[in-house]
Amino acid sequence: MDIEKTLLRKVGEAIHRFDMIRAGDRIAVAVSGGKDSVTMLEILLLLQRRAPIDFSLCAFTVEQGKFLAPVAAVGEYIQSLGVPWTYHTDNPSLRLLDDQPDHGCDLCSRFRRRAVYQIARGLDANVIAFGHTADDLCESLFRNILYTGRLSSLPPVTVSRNADFRLIRPLIYVTEELTRGYMESKAVPVVPCGCSLRTGTVRRGIREAIADWETEHPHLRENILKAMSNIEPGRLLDKRYYNPDTNPDTEGETEPAGLFQIVHHA
Ligand code: SF4
Repeated sequence: MDIEKTLLRKVGEAIHRFDMIRAGDRIAVAVSGGKDSVTMLEILLLLQRRAPIDFSLCAFTVEQGKFLAPVAAVGEYIQSLGVPWTYHTDNPSLRLLDDQPDHGCDLCSRFRRRAVYQIARGLDANVIAFGHTADDLCESLFRNILYTGRLSSLPPVTVSRNADFRLIRPLIYVTEELTRGYMESKAVPVVPCGCSLRTGTVRRGIREAIADWETEHPHLRENILKAMSNIEPGRLLDKRYYNPDTNPDTEGETEPAGLFQIVHHA
């Protein structure tokens, strides 16, 4: 399998399907130092050369005190690709780490999001690209179902609260197996976050459960993604989307939607 071709196809499909990138966009790519965001930047650069529209790219990294090694090597690599890279230390996040070392993801992400908007504003960007992957979408779906009572995941495209930025997630169809393989094939330096080693968290538990199910049912993640694109609101319990008069009984007729088979995104 040519990993780069697969990545180009999957990222291109996400961008096209959800109208992520438009002519004249200036996209600030959020690089965490890990394999996913650097892969995203590389693939966006390749797509930029082939795209029928003009858009520009820049990259930035927010330091929240959680990297396991200096991210300078990642920055140098990004600059070697011809992409300007900004490194920003977020002092409120560092203070948070001192004051509440065991703070959870909600607080950490809130601090990061505020810093991200500030940096993107300084970079004159109108779009911010995040490296959330198909794995992240699956985990988020289960986290919301199991712990917040919502059928919800990460949106492919949204806007910031005051509509300053379009927020895009070009890796929604890309698994981390692919980003890992791509980074290894190119020997790109990646700097993991300390949280990636943490055990016993909800996020880690869900990730391990999905990986465990996949040992018996390969392609489970693809089916979960497919399910997110194939909602049957009349068979759920949210009355906002429920109309018994236009809701035929299909009990016994519904195919198991290709469960545990390979699902291709049309
Ligand atoms: S995993 Fe770590 S870095 Fe990521 S949001 Fe949670 S606390 Fe922050």
